Amino acid sequence: MTSNEIRSKFLQFFEERGHHIVPSAPMVVKNDPTLMFTNAGMNQFKDIFLGNANTPYPRVADAQKCLRVSGKHNDLEEVGHDTYHHTMFEMLGNWSFGDYFKKEAIAFGWEFLTEVMGIDKQNLYVTVFGGDEKEGLAMDTEAYDYWKEHVDESRILKGSKKDNFWEMGDQGPCGPCSEIHIDLRDEAEKQRVPGAELVNKDNPLVIEIWNLVFMQYNRLANGTLEPLKAKHIDTGMGFERLCMVMQGKKSNYDTDVFQPLIQTIAQMAGKVYGQNEEADVAMRVIADHLRAVSFSIADGQLPSNAKAGYVIRRILRRAVRYGYTFLGFKQPFINELVDTLVGQMGGQYPELVKQQELIRRIILEEEQSFLKTLSGGIKRFEDYIQGHADDASKMIDGAFAFELFDTYGFPIDLTQLMAGEKGWTVDMEGFRKGLAEQKQRSRAAAAVENDDWVELIPNVNQEFLGYDTLVAEVHIARYRHVKVKDKEFYQLVLDKTPFYGESGGQVGDQGTLTTSKGDLLPVVDTKKENGLTVHIVPADKFEDCLNSQFSILDSQFKAEVDKCRRFAIACNHTATHLLHKALRNVLGSHVEQKGSSVDDQRLRFDFSHFAKMSREEIREVEKQVNIDIRHAIALEEHRAMPIAEAQKLGAMALFGEKYGEFVRVVKFGESVEFCGGTHIANTGHIGSFRIVSEGAVAAGMRRIEAVTGAGAEQYNNAMQDQLEALREQLKNPKDVVAAVQRLQEENSDLRGQVEQFKKEQVAGFVRGIADKVQANPVLVQRVDADLSQLKDAMLALRNQHPDMAVVLASGYGDKPSLLVCLGQNRVDAGKNAGTIVRTAGKEMQGGGGGQPAYATAGGKDLAGLEKAMQVAAEMV
Ligand code: ATP
Ligand code: MG
Repeated sequence: MTSNEIRSKFLQFFEERGHHIVPSAPMVVKNDPTLMFTNAGMNQFKDIFLGNANTPYPRVADAQKCLRVSGKHNDLEEVGHDTYHHTMFEMLGNWSFGDYFKKEAIAFGWEFLTEVMGIDKQNLYVTVFGGDEKEGLAMDTEAYDYWKEHVDESRILKGSKKDNFWEMGDQGPCGPCSEIHIDLRDEAEKQRVPGAELVNKDNPLVIEIWNLVFMQYNRLANGTLEPLKAKHIDTGMGFERLCMVMQGKKSNYDTDVFQPLIQTIAQMAGKVYGQNEEADVAMRVIADHLRAVSFSIADGQLPSNAKAGYVIRRILRRAVRYGYTFLGFKQPFINELVDTLVGQMGGQYPELVKQQELIRRIILEEEQSFLKTLSGGIKRFEDYIQGHADDASKMIDGAFAFELFDTYGFPIDLTQLMAGEKGWTVDMEGFRKGLAEQKQRSRAAAAVENDDWVELIPNVNQEFLGYDTLVAEVHIARYRHVKVKDKEFYQLVLDKTPFYGESGGQVGDQGTLTTSKGDLLPVVDTKKENGLTVHIVPADKFEDCLNSQFSILDSQFKAEVDKCRRFAIACNHTATHLLHKALRNVLGSHVEQKGSSVDDQRLRFDFSHFAKMSREEIREVEKQVNIDIRHAIALEEHRAMPIAEAQKLGAMALFGEKYGEFVRVVKFGESVEFCGGTHIANTGHIGSFRIVSEGAVAAGMRRIEAVTGAGAEQYNNAMQDQLEALREQLKNPKDVVAAVQRLQEENSDLRGQVEQFKKEQVAGFVRGIADKVQANPVLVQRVDADLSQLKDAMLALRNQHPDMAVVLASGYGDKPSLLVCLGQNRVDAGKNAGTIVRTAGKEMQGGGGGQPAYATAGGKDLAGLEKAMQVAAEMV
């Protein structure tokens, strides 16, 4: 069975059993402060598990792109070294939201594996939660009894909390789980050691393929568990692992999912896969990481220096480094594999095809710059070894190993390998200390303490009013205390709200809540979290309200958004849509939005394009946006349009955004976009639009910053003021540019003349000295000239006068300096100009050096110059 057939069979099986099939959510998570990448199929349903959202479908199934490289699930270090963990993989899953529970989930899983896939029951084991005393939880006998209906009891194993109790995070929904494991070993091995002894023991041929999670608890902030009102099923099966089983392989990399890539890499490296373990690991790492990085770029997350972007950069660097060390790739090579990947997975994932060229270019640029860093680090390493050649311990300092890791991206095993080649070891304790300190720093920086929600109105179905109004009478539905890096505030959820929570690149609203008594509670920011709009208010103000006689908790409030700020934001957001359209008109339809950020001051728009925009192109884009503004086009808004209909309208889909069945469509004339943001009623309100800057963000990615309305006016005024100030400075010439040009020419003329004068001055000066030396070969003189200009002349003079001894002292430019030049007879007699200037230089807090015949010194203390000259004269 091919991998594509396996995926289809899974989806078909669950569709036939009443499940609605949904598309994979993006792998890159936007708008969730608690998660950077999707790491399990359940992520996109988190809001439902938390009770913040409803679902029209009680049963759902899908194949989800996942990435496990950070946070609670991080498999990066395993990848390549074992044969069944990937960074990016597909997770097949089925869900029940308050519908079926353990009995059916177990029956479905078993039927699919043993009947549809036809896997031999003799090779399968299952686990159930064995209970945990500390948590006060009993064994999951319910699951045990349901499994008994299908499986022999000898194959049902009891597991610990670590393996059999699944939690999304430190807080939130969780519950016991049952895993299905498979034993892929040879008969002889199975006879020798029973498979039951190897389950959950990291044996590469006895592995977990499916995890069925029974969500029945909610973990509170204080660590206790409370039962969930509705119980849910959440399952996840590793697609690549299932393919390995079905294709009779012993490694995920031997399936049709990975072989085309592995074979291409082997060919490029001039090696054969399967002959040498080190090379094999490297090929697996590269094949795996290429997928992770390519999918991430397609989802809009480029490699960068911070957060999610930095995670992606590190993955790519790991692949480069393995290729460099173990396969001999000294030039960029990973970008050349993009075509193979797209050829293979583009059918299933069209976002790869559309962005093939962008992905290739970005990977190429990253490879180039990292290969440079890598060779810089190798040089640092070699200098270190040389500089410590007489170090008897032959142990590399832990702090230095950490510097290589931190600055040059050298994983510790690379440093160890390079050290080993030279007969050195690495101080691992010191390295780990550096690492632990860094982790501690970043943990402290990210520390967030959330108290549990205090719920006032249960099951609130929060309504967003902010498209239509900026003022509303509201109630607090729940609130909680939050501490971020010693700053305290409260988060409030309202039963309905006019406040827009930060999302889709648009900042959150600010404004006020006013109690019936007239107390003002400022809303300093609004965010979206797990599908809820959360209003952030200062802790002291809210506590004042809590403590006041009239409880604010059951009374009604006036919620009011800061109108002017919202208007400026809306202008910038609408202008962003117009800009997007104009860019596609002017530059071509390869232009795709890659990121956008809109606030009340300005807008920023990142897009794919492969060259710097010319000044004419920028002017043309500006012009088209301004024409749309003058045409005063009215907003046409469709709040809930079926996605297919929106596409027919020509709405531009953004890869990397999560869409439901229905989408909001925002249309201004020919500009049609999927968008949840707030806009103005009419483009005329924008007033005017100015591009402030255009530049590169990465290979193939440009960024425009622009301003609108009052912001554009300010920008224009500032430009005008600057020009006028310049004009005044230049005494109001007719043509400012010509005037500046004239000034520049004049300046360069004068500079040439000064140079000429200097030369002549030095020549005259040298003539004077030559005359004096002619008369008396010993000359000690205070001059005030740039001594560095005199070297050639002095050496020439010296050739004519073997008895010469010249000491010159200068305070040129307020810096003391000394020059000593000796004829050959004096040098032969044992005098040394270098020694003399070094000794004399001390008198003026300086030092210097040179040859026995000629030397100079500089100093810091001008007052010591005379003394220095005397010392030199005496020594001469
Ligand atoms: P393991 O113990 O093998 O790391 P897990 O307990 O981390 O697995 P779950 O979080 O339960 O796995 O994820 C559900 C399924 O996803 C697993 O049964 C497995 O088949 C698959 N899976 C998990 N991690 C990976 C990975 N890094 N690469 C490929 N498949 C994975
Ligand atoms: Mg794991």
